[in-house]
Amino acid sequence: MIMRINRNYIVISCLLMALIGCSHLEKAEKKRQRRKNVIAEPVVRLSDHHFRSKNPDYLPRPPYSWEQTRCGDHMRITKDYFRCGGSARHPPKAVDGKTLFDCSGSHSLPLKDNKEFIWPRLISILNAIQTKTGKRVVITCGHRCPAHNTYADPSRYNQVSKHQIGAEVDFYVEGLEQEPEKVIQLIMDEFPGSDFKRYEKGGLNVSTEPWFNREVFIKLYTADEGRDLDNQHPYPYISIQMRYDPKTNEWITYTWEKAFKNYLRE
Ligand SMILES: [Zn+2]
Repeated sequence: MIMRINRNYIVISCLLMALIGCSHLEKAEKKRQRRKNVIAEPVVRLSDHHFRSKNPDYLPRPPYSWEQTRCGDHMRITKDYFRCGGSARHPPKAVDGKTLFDCSGSHSLPLKDNKEFIWPRLISILNAIQTKTGKRVVITCGHRCPAHNTYADPSRYNQVSKHQIGAEVDFYVEGLEQEPEKVIQLIMDEFPGSDFKRYEKGGLNVSTEPWFNREVFIKLYTADEGRDLDNQHPYPYISIQMRYDPKTNEWITYTWEKAFKNYLRE
């Protein structure tokens, strides 16, 4: 038995040594062939020909659009700034014999093509205001799910608010709280060549005649108007509603389906 183990051991060892030996031989042969085939060519230059390498200048790579997180001195506004302001900590409240409950806040923005969506023109206008003024835009109300929309402002007028479909924003600008007309002018400047009109028909919840063009409708709430749950601050504020998208040729209107069936809930 001992003799057989020893014999097997010797055979395996011999095979391994033979394999290692072959591998070494193969490498040595390849090296020899490479040396044999190398052609050395002399580098030829004129006697007054000097090669001077210039130190390369550092050229920073321009940031990709998703890396531009700042907008002047402030954070760039994204759709995340529009999340619903509802909270489970808000207690139920009774209005006209009905009990209203706020949403928990744990839900998505409105969806478009299965992605969270806020009308990009609203976002670009707000970022332009930050860039031009160097001041921070404070969004007080972006998206409002239907539950939070009713809880925050149960008025009949508010039931078809475009906040529910990601097409409206309320905001003011820090440092320009008392000069909203300047901000409204900046909004209109974002539509060069566009003819803004005043809405004179009335019947709205503001005393100042709104401004509008084909694409947007701008309302100014004075310090004692529009004090819903999301606008419990002492400043006048501006609301921009989307009306029309020239890129998709789409009129942007509120519908019950868009408001109630178009976002993900917990
Ligand atoms: Zn909500």
